Amino acid sequence: MTRTPLMAGNWKSNLNHQEAVVLVQKLAWTLSDKKHDYAKSEVVVIPPFTDLRSVQTLIDGDKLPIGYGAQDVSSHDGGAYTGEISAAMLAKLGCSYVVVGHSERREYHQESDQLVNEKAGKALAAGMTPIVCVGEGLEVRQAGEHVAYTLGQLDGSLAGFSAEQVAGLVIAYEPVWAIGTGEVATPEDAQEVCAAIRGRLAETWGADVADQTRILYGGSVKASNVAAIMAKPDVDGALVGGASLVAEEFAGIVRFYD
Ligand code: PEP
Repeated sequence: MTRTPLMAGNWKSNLNHQEAVVLVQKLAWTLSDKKHDYAKSEVVVIPPFTDLRSVQTLIDGDKLPIGYGAQDVSSHDGGAYTGEISAAMLAKLGCSYVVVGHSERREYHQESDQLVNEKAGKALAAGMTPIVCVGEGLEVRQAGEHVAYTLGQLDGSLAGFSAEQVAGLVIAYEPVWAIGTGEVATPEDAQEVCAAIRGRLAETWGADVADQTRILYGGSVKASNVAAIMAKPDVDGALVGGASLVAEEFAGIVRFYD
């Protein structure tokens, strides 16, 4: 099975709705200038909630072949949950992806695997693709327990999902020590854990599901290091933070095969 590489840019808490439009326009122009073949890598932007409507209007209006999604979703369907954004609201805005369980949510908002599981379930039920983030911190890595730890998060985050549901989501392996630090994991580090994740998907949901599910690497990916990481057989794309805020740099990541 051929898995189309996915390059997703997580803007985090950066760029207002006007800046968002400028960045998506620049990205689209840069990729069009380079005659990017979207069959070679799918391109997705993940702006803050407040930018989504403007990004939707631009992408729909100009028929840009760029997908978009949200950085989080409520575990509730709606109602008296001040500040929460439901999956139905995001789906209505045309989001096709939702990041769940990013390490910054896990760390600063104490999100547990169970909550991540509920959020991923809501995204799936609304017809969106969750990008489920897992990955170890520095102490776990130094103790050599990174594979077991990450698989534990994976098990908890996907608990109770059917084979069909798992085949419809994306996993992002993001070692916390490599996020925003400039310290990228080696291609071998990325491959080791991505292969272990695929192995666990095969054990739990079968080889076909494991073969279909895309597994991304995230952590200080740049245009200059992406090709070596993408050369690894179990890495199907990248979740990109800082480098996705600069159109030329993100376009370089998208075109990892150049
Ligand atoms: C991220 O936030 O998911 C991420 C990988 O960030 P960065 O690329 O900046 O390390």
